[in-house]
Amino acid sequence: MTIILSEILEGKKSVALGGHVRPDGDCVGSSMGLYMYLTENYSELEVDLYLESIPKAFSIIQRTEEVKHEIPEGKQYDLFICLDCGDEQRLGFSAPLFKNAAHTLCIDHHVSNNSFAEINYIKPEASSTSELVFGLLDKEKISKSCAEALYMGIAHDTGVFQYSCTAPETMEAAAELLRKGIDGSEIIDKTYYEKTYVQNQILGRALLESMLILDKKAIVSVVSKKEMEFFEAVSSDLEGIVSQLRLTKGVEVAMFLHEIDTQKYKVSLRSKGAVDVSKVAQYFGGGGHARAAGLTMKGSEHDVINNLAAQITLQMSGKKPEEA
Ligand code: 5GP
Ligand code: MN
Repeated sequence: MTIILSEILEGKKSVALGGHVRPDGDCVGSSMGLYMYLTENYSELEVDLYLESIPKAFSIIQRTEEVKHEIPEGKQYDLFICLDCGDEQRLGFSAPLFKNAAHTLCIDHHVSNNSFAEINYIKPEASSTSELVFGLLDKEKISKSCAEALYMGIAHDTGVFQYSCTAPETMEAAAELLRKGIDGSEIIDKTYYEKTYVQNQILGRALLESMLILDKKAIVSVVSKKEMEFFEAVSSDLEGIVSQLRLTKGVEVAMFLHEIDTQKYKVSLRSKGAVDVSKVAQYFGGGGHARAAGLTMKGSEHDVINNLAAQITLQMSGKKPEEA
């Protein structure tokens, strides 16, 4: 099923856009892309975008200073559009606006998405939400700044056009966006590869302290609250660590634990293909994609690692969780 954006917008006077907590490249790219498209082409429409604070590197995207980080009290929008968000809780602070909205639409590519909106445009086979947004827009009406945002989103969720989710359609979308005259190389360099000194230090620390487990088929690393304080790092500084761990020769799965509170960990999982990490994440209440998923877990570091390792082992041995 596809949807027609102009039909959904018919009769609507106000639209709010929202993405997931700790917004990443695809979340910011897809929501900023759609925000610019709507404000540029539907001048009658009131459009607001709600996101948590955006990593500094993404401010090369135009108009990110217009993003709202707090919700107005009692506000009701005619339509709320969720982007890159697998479930309602993942909306974080903007969830009340979603609940209050007269109509809701979700545009997403997470296999774990539970179709929580009124209209659900979910395509797990798509590389990114940004690619899905691109597909919904009138190509003639995409501006250069909108193209920059969408290109960033696609580049991020494909690991710069490298992950297996990169389809011919993905490259076609990227090509169309490049034709808008954007500097694709600069966007990738400044938002994906460039690291601050602190980011590199903490990456180095995480690699140095990593451990091979499960007969060297998995790798795990942990960054504690104390270390974060020592490096004066924020959670977005940890972006990319788990991808680097995944590159380790011989491992099938990489696990990265970030202690967000005492006995509480934000877990990132990455797979080379043999293990579906979205199933592991969903088993513990999280979600994501087959090769990239995340969740939050409570307990000691060792319990968290052991519990994750047990689910990974089950999949590697071909058993279903019920048979455990
Ligand atoms: P990351 O490890 O980069 O935070 O996330 C990897 C993928 O899993 C992303 O697509 C992200 O949206 C999803 N994800 C991360 N954490 C959670 C979570 O707690 N719940 C759900 N449903 N998805 C998550
Ligand atoms: Mn995404």
